[in-house]
Formats: sequence, structure tokens, C-alpha cells
Amino acid sequence: MKMHLCKKCKAVVEGGGTPDGKGCPAGGMHDYTYIAETGPKYHLCSKCRILVKTFAKPADFGCPEGAYHEWTFLGEAGPNAWACKRCGARVETAAAPERANCPSGGIHDWKKA
Ligand SMILES: [Zn+2]
Ligand SMILES: [Zn+2]
Ligand SMILES: [Zn+2]
Repeated sequence: MKMHLCKKCKAVVEGGGTPDGKGCPAGGMHDYTYIAETGPKYHLCSKCRILVKTFAKPADFGCPEGAYHEWTFLGEAGPNAWACKRCGARVETAAAPERANCPSGGIHDWKKA
């Protein structure tokens, strides 16, 4: 599966190819950028706060908050649910998630959810 992001409305779409561009809530056509193949690795952009599960590090280009994403690898998908009290991100990982680069500034404050 391929993951695309619209940098106008921040919609993340998974599918076999480039998604249909019609009907962006932000007006006109969606402006999709290919991010990555879907997979088990959580990545969070500390600028636009988009959280994705991908096979490898997502593409840098096309951040809705300006030019390039700043992705941080949080961890591999697993059975334990965590939520950051500061930025509100929620992940389900095998081990405790990475703490660096919370979008709210400084480090994430992960609590078992
Ligand atoms: Zn859109
Ligand atoms: Zn971003
Ligand atoms: Zn956080």
C-alpha cells in the first residue's frame, strides 16, 4: 500500500496508487505527495504533527507547515498503547516510544494508555 498526504487539508490516504484529487475540504483539488509504503514503523513530523506507520523513513518533501517534514522514528508497532500528555500523539508500540522531538517542544511525555 502506498501512503499519500495532501498538504492543503492534511488528509493521509492509503491505496494502490495516486488517490483521486477531487473534493479537498481546503478547496479545489487535493495536492497529494507520496510519503512512503505503509509498514510497521511509526514516524511523527514535529512540524505538521502528522503520524504515519511506514516501512521506511517517509519522504521529506511536502510538509503542510512548510517545505520539508521533520520526521522522528518513534518505534515499531506492537501491543502497548501510549499517549503523549503534551502533544496528544497516540501510538501502539512494542517498546517505550522515542522521546525526542515532541511537536509541543522538548521531549514527549509518554504514558501507558
Ligand atoms: Zn486535501
Ligand atoms: Zn510535516
Ligand atoms: Zn509529544
